[in-house]
Amino acid sequence: MSDSTAATPMHHKVIILGSGPAGLTAAVYTARASLAPMLLHGPLAGGQLTTTTDVENFPGFPEGVMGPELMQRMEQQAVRFGTKVVVDTVVKADLSKRPFTLIGQSGRYTCDSLIIATGAAPKYTGAKNERDLLGYGVSTCATCDGAFFRNKVIAVVGGGDSACEEASFLTRFASKLYLIHRRDQLRASKIMQDRVFSNPKIEMVWNKKPIAVEGSKKDGVTALVLEDTKTGEVSTLPTDALFVAIGHTPNSQLFAEQLDMDENGYIKHEPDSTATKIPGVFVCGDVQDHVFRQAVTAAGTGCMAAIGAERWLESQHA
Ligand code: NAP
Repeated sequence: MSDSTAATPMHHKVIILGSGPAGLTAAVYTARASLAPMLLHGPLAGGQLTTTTDVENFPGFPEGVMGPELMQRMEQQAVRFGTKVVVDTVVKADLSKRPFTLIGQSGRYTCDSLIIATGAAPKYTGAKNERDLLGYGVSTCATCDGAFFRNKVIAVVGGGDSACEEASFLTRFASKLYLIHRRDQLRASKIMQDRVFSNPKIEMVWNKKPIAVEGSKKDGVTALVLEDTKTGEVSTLPTDALFVAIGHTPNSQLFAEQLDMDENGYIKHEPDSTATKIPGVFVCGDVQDHVFRQAVTAAGTGCMAAIGAERWLESQHA
């Protein structure tokens, strides 16, 4: 819901686009700097951490914290200092002149300085029926959907930390879990690998990739058709669910041809800074980071972007 109208754009000194750890940290800092920021986000607040389970590596939580709770706390902190949170999906951005303009589905917004914290979205394998059965046995979110598969067979695809984390978490529900990876070695960190290998419910399926998901919206997922990545041999693996955990794509499409990006769409910024090539536009979090992609690094860059915006506004006497 937005309280802006198409006729009268809502103007703010700083707009932060995105509500993950980067955006919310930028909001806390700019709000505490009395810049009265507006934080705009789409229907799913909190970014990727809302689709994660226990976060054990965010400093300050010795017992760990659930991802959604961490994000709620960050939002409360941002609001406490005066951040205005508006829910609207931005469909167009014009960074060609100042003030910058964002056009949402229900409002128009202008700002002197923009902090982009739009994060990244899950990737899909491209297996036949994968998208059609999303929500009907195919999922990209173990926290959201794991409980639907209590005492069922679950398959997870991927070989990184996400896949290992999801696989370990899903064994709380699964009677049996297959972790399918296209190579014969996981990319995940050693601690994550150790957890997977020592879990009796998890069976590794090496050198395989799903090429089709069998099932229907009525019956859900019934099996995966797998292709051996070395021999090309095709086999069928019966399963009740497929969790896709193969990485992410940066949410940078809004800024195509306006900001510089690398070949994978991650927004570029100046070294040791979050400043983009457009003065007044800053970028933080996963939309600019394909290396670390941690909540704490996203929060760190959110802080940098906020300080960058604050100093830039000061230099403009805004
Ligand atoms: P990632 O590290 O990029 O791993 C993606 C995995 O999916 C790789 O194993 C890759 O295979 C596989 N893959 C990619 N495309 C595929 C396809 N089309 N079909 C089948 N498999 C495919 O992504 P991530 O696991 O999401 O992790 C991203 C970053 O977040 C990493 O830096 C990670 O450390 C971090 N992370 C940390 C934690 C934690 O510490 N708690 C949790 C989650 C993520 P190849 O190995 O063959 O390339």
